Amino acid sequence: MIDFHAHLDLYPDPHTVARECVVRDLYVLSVTTTPSAWSGTAALTKDAPRVRTALGLHPQIAHERKGELPLFERLLPQVRYVGEIGLDGGPEYRRHWLDQEHVFSRVLSLCARAGGRVMSIHSRRASTQVLDALEMEAGAGIAILHWFSGTQRELARAVDLGCWFSVGPAMLAGDKGRALAAKMPRDRILTETDGPFAQVDGRAAWPWDANRAVEELSKIWSEPIDTVQRQLDGNLRRLSSQGVAGG
Ligand code: MN
Repeated sequence: MIDFHAHLDLYPDPHTVARECVVRDLYVLSVTTTPSAWSGTAALTKDAPRVRTALGLHPQIAHERKGELPLFERLLPQVRYVGEIGLDGGPEYRRHWLDQEHVFSRVLSLCARAGGRVMSIHSRRASTQVLDALEMEAGAGIAILHWFSGTQRELARAVDLGCWFSVGPAMLAGDKGRALAAKMPRDRILTETDGPFAQVDGRAAWPWDANRAVEELSKIWSEPIDTVQRQLDGNLRRLSSQGVAGG
């Protein structure tokens, strides 16, 4: 099972969650929201080869943490995965839009200069602007749009630009999310949870709740669970072997 977007460091007891991911043999992309959180979060799973820690600077706190861009630049050579990064066009973050744009475009250009990275990207209420930025910095690497919630037209553009997608139980609980997932290329989808931010059954999602996304995809694709899981595992292997740089 794969959780390609989880915030392990933000659970009340990160060590226990990290250990449980290892016990359950989960593949996890452990994303961070600030460069200063990267080292401590990577240390949580230093003996877990199936957990990768991504270097991030979350758009919702870009205005508070833009001063950490030099740290982002220093850490970038050590990582193959970058996230969570992106833009958030929600009303509560719109007043920090210029900071968000500055941080996101700087991060993309650093990734391009470093030879490209695999990137987990937030695009809430900002799909078009995220796609514009990705188009401008084509060498930044492989973009995985996490919990994509744009329009069908924006989705088609993202597919044309070569984007991948990670979908979780919260996204697939709604008709809109399921309709979007149905149009995503099956060979460019991974599962995620976005725990502990995203909810499942009215509580914070655990990384192993990714199995619920597998179940939803099985319904959407009309394929048995093990066929879906094989497709997802194959996608992850292909992603891992693609030519991006990073340690
Ligand atoms: Mn997230």
